[in-house]
Amino acid sequence: MTETPANYTTAVSFAEKKVVVLRDLESLYRYRFSQAAAWAPVEHLHQEQIKLGFVPTMGALHEGHLELVRRAREKCQKVIVSIFVNPYQFAPHEDFSKYPRTFERDLELLHSVGADAVFYPDEKLVYPNGKDKITAVIPPTPLNDTLEGEFRPTFFRGVATVVLKLFNLVQPHIAFFGQKDYQQWKVIETMVKDLNLPVSIVGVPTVRESDGLAMSSRNAYLDAKARQEATNLYKALSTTKELMEGGKNPLQAAAEAAKLLQESQGWQLQYLKVCHAESLEPVTDSYIKPCVIVAAAKLGEVRLIDNLPILD
Ligand code: AMP
Repeated sequence: MTETPANYTTAVSFAEKKVVVLRDLESLYRYRFSQAAAWAPVEHLHQEQIKLGFVPTMGALHEGHLELVRRAREKCQKVIVSIFVNPYQFAPHEDFSKYPRTFERDLELLHSVGADAVFYPDEKLVYPNGKDKITAVIPPTPLNDTLEGEFRPTFFRGVATVVLKLFNLVQPHIAFFGQKDYQQWKVIETMVKDLNLPVSIVGVPTVRESDGLAMSSRNAYLDAKARQEATNLYKALSTTKELMEGGKNPLQAAAEAAKLLQESQGWQLQYLKVCHAESLEPVTDSYIKPCVIVAAAKLGEVRLIDNLPILD
């Protein structure tokens, strides 16, 4: 049976795909309140109350995204995925217009992992007065302006603002984020704590290709040669860890591992650092756990990020 909100107007139900597509606020709210209990802290929900899980994405889905949906399925009775390529988090020179958009295929994949609904708003719904006229959420320093924030100064403002909007629209009990975007995950956790948002955040470990490359929608930009070369990013992270375990301090280990990229074809390393796992403050002198090794590099025109958390 396809679940279709009663009297919907612009919601499209793909009968054969069984994922309800919600494109306007009326459909979203009708669906939201027909499916899940009004918000209550997760720990206060009774067993029989329906918990709503939420997975925000920009589409062009791959196994990494699907893993988030599977995790949401395990913990929640209803799962909504959003697909919205958020213009507010892209700088003017970045890849907003060429970002891959594969909605029909995404729907099929979502169906295959049992998502219940997809919220697929257009830009006008999210930014009725234009993205430049919005009340913004600015995460605190150093989360906002180091590492990714140094190279993409307005990125986390864009992410935090849209995620807060999506939380308010969907009103999930639990939201799922990938550790692949480690700093983003910490930005969202911090926003939820700082602004007392009524949602629990779950971070899902990075899903990788068999050769170690972290799955990413942007991997589609890599040609065959670059795709092979791209595995060196994760190798540099693993080498940093090995060197620290062999007794090098984090600064030396990262510098030595960075050579792996600097000596191979086509890389422009932006950062390779060891940071505290929660604050993301740099760890330099001694190997302290929990930490995370984070890196970003351009391979030709394609910018890749990856990380390796070391928790115990
Ligand atoms: P995006 O569509 O790139 O905005 O990503 C949507 C969500 O999927 C974010 O929480 C990402 O961190 C997560 N994600 C992307 N790639 C992966 C991956 N390889 N493994 C786990 N989660 C991922």
